[in-house]
Amino acid sequence: MSAAKFEEIGRALREHQRFAVLGHVRPDGDALGSALALGLSLKKLGKDVRIWNEEGMLEKYSFLPRAELLTKPPTEPEDVDVIVALDTAIQNRLGTTLASIRSSRLCINIDHHPSNPEYGDIVYIDPKSPATGQILFELIKSEKLPMDSEIATNLYVAISTDTGSFQYPNTTARTFEIAAELVREGVDVGRISQLTYENYPRRRIELLRDLLGTMRFHADYRVASFSLSLAVAKKLRVLPEDNEGLIDHLRAIRGVIAAIFFEELPDGKVRVSMRSKTEKVNVCAICEKFGGGGHVLAAGARVKGTLAEVENKILEEVCDVVNRSS
Ligand code: 5GP
Ligand code: MN
Repeated sequence: MSAAKFEEIGRALREHQRFAVLGHVRPDGDALGSALALGLSLKKLGKDVRIWNEEGMLEKYSFLPRAELLTKPPTEPEDVDVIVALDTAIQNRLGTTLASIRSSRLCINIDHHPSNPEYGDIVYIDPKSPATGQILFELIKSEKLPMDSEIATNLYVAISTDTGSFQYPNTTARTFEIAAELVREGVDVGRISQLTYENYPRRRIELLRDLLGTMRFHADYRVASFSLSLAVAKKLRVLPEDNEGLIDHLRAIRGVIAAIFFEELPDGKVRVSMRSKTEKVNVCAICEKFGGGGHVLAAGARVKGTLAEVENKILEEVCDVVNRSS
């Protein structure tokens, strides 16, 4: 099934000329690395490629090879043949990029979120894959699409960041085989790891200091949470990208099963980010109840209400699930 689907995608990529490669809002390493990797491979095929994200390239991922090719969508809409949506669980998480496409003939949806409702004309969803970057590696190899050290480095960062540096349970033997192949293609592991994990702006650690001051435990220390108010975000001049991964400090505590990060947004909503250590506590299911989604062990939602209201509502639900799980 996957070979046939890859063939269908490979054919569509070769047959058309004008592409828009897109990823989700609040992009992470997988969304940005995957978009650049596929975009670069298509460019090497001689295609006319746009690589867009609502937020453009993030400062912290600006070391990705050819990062300058990934831009915010233009104000003047353009005609393309094919839209490729990468790593995007639900179409509206493509954000404003869709508004910059006047017309298209085909939408290809490649993702690894189990909650993906399979929008688009050609759909490839593999929830077992730890990263969209891993699916793209398989696609590029099976369809003999162009690969080089720049494409390999983008895929490596996509996979490394979505597996928590090859630590999460979604990391498989195949993931390590792919990593080995990418290193053979020319990834400089030491340099790229430093740029990915040891090059944070100081304000991120100042943010962590503040978050730890708000840390609370619930359900007999099996649930941990912390919160970021708009006032603190403003005081510390926090960028949305600064908090990626900070929730891992909560999950890393012995005895904690579920970790929650609450972030007050300017639009009267609260962004809720959740992590779990066990499939018995399915945070994707919890987030879906509140209009969000994601994976069993990592999910999120945007919930209407004040920080305190959303904290109470969500904590009640999570504590309930955790109490029932043991
Ligand atoms: P994070 O907590 O890192 O922002 O997101 C964890 C996972 O949940 C990611 O795979 C992300 O795609 C998903 N996710 C986060 N926020 C939302 C949301 O508001 N809606 C949906 N459908 N998924 C989300
Ligand atoms: Mn991903």
